[in-house]
Amino acid sequence: MPSRPGPSARPKSYSTDAIVLRSVDEGEADRRITLLTPGWGKAQAYVRGARRITSRLGGHLDVLNHSRVSLAVGARWNVVTGAESIASFGRLKQDLDRIAAALYLAELTGAMLPEEAPHPAAYRLLLDALRAIDGGAADDRLTARYLELRLLEDTGYMPELSVCVVCGRAVEPDRHRFAPDMGGVTCDACAVSQGRALPLSLSALKVLRHFARSGMAQGTAISASPALLTELEMLLLSCIHAVLDRDTASGVFIGHLRDMRRRPPRY
Ligand SMILES: [Zn+2]
Repeated sequence: MPSRPGPSARPKSYSTDAIVLRSVDEGEADRRITLLTPGWGKAQAYVRGARRITSRLGGHLDVLNHSRVSLAVGARWNVVTGAESIASFGRLKQDLDRIAAALYLAELTGAMLPEEAPHPAAYRLLLDALRAIDGGAADDRLTARYLELRLLEDTGYMPELSVCVVCGRAVEPDRHRFAPDMGGVTCDACAVSQGRALPLSLSALKVLRHFARSGMAQGTAISASPALLTELEMLLLSCIHAVLDRDTASGVFIGHLRDMRRRPPRY
């Protein structure tokens, strides 16, 4: 389904694979969940009676689950009519640090995507990240940074990593800075004239370029010092901040994301 069809053309039911990004209690026993699907993008749906012990759906729709979901698509609400787990990422959910990393990526992906617009690359990115975190395939921080950069790319905010965003010349090694508000790297001279750029080490620039041209497994198969990990986190969070900040409704959410990085949320 490329986008939500108009009321007359809207099918009554729709079946899709999905990742559960969020789950919010509604009323006495219901839940409203946010799904990320390959063909429909991010979508909200109600799960009637999900919190009842007898619910046959609830257990398949926990946050971070990868499930096969059937939906009744109504004029105003989508309602889940069937669900079956494909993967529940049990190892991930036994480790608070991994839960925190995965929940952050699910929240971030949800925040960056519009409602009901297809983003198959973002779906694939998050699924690959959940599998990597569950399997302990790479340093979770590198997985997170990789997803952040490629999610920026998928949503049209890929930072420029080769030429100065001010003068257009190729940046020279170790004579570069980073200006998230302007969309990428600058030369030292241009950064000074603009007066609002972050330091950017050559190592960080190389890692970002490596992420940009590699799949997740290859992209995260590197070693990075604690200082480099901290720099990458700061650079990418600045980019995300610059994007989400354009939408004032997301402003509050940025603080929420920062908090999630600092202390694992209760699961
Ligand atoms: Zn320049």
